[in-house]
Amino acid sequence: MSTDYLHRQLIKLGDMMGDGLHHEPDGKWIEKEYRRTAQALGLIKKLDRSQRIAAINERMAQRVEEVKCSKCQGELKQTRSGAKRAKCTGCGNLWQLLK
Ligand SMILES: [Zn+2]
Repeated sequence: MSTDYLHRQLIKLGDMMGDGLHHEPDGKWIEKEYRRTAQALGLIKKLDRSQRIAAINERMAQRVEEVKCSKCQGELKQTRSGAKRAKCTGCGNLWQLLK
């Protein structure tokens, strides 16, 4: 794919997002495609592994504050660094906290 094509695509998708189309139920692809196109053009750098893990840990730290085990109301604890799941310190049940 040519850079020109990608640039045009990026502008088109940007306009669609400007119109709020990516908030429509079937508009999720617009944002995804926008990010993919921007990455292809080198406008967004992909996070490297350690940055990605740090970002997950940060979001998980927030999630375990907000969420309690829905079985026993116990505290949740991230299973390991970089994991998107947390284990209940009460009953040991595993919960997916991030997608
Ligand atoms: Zn529990």
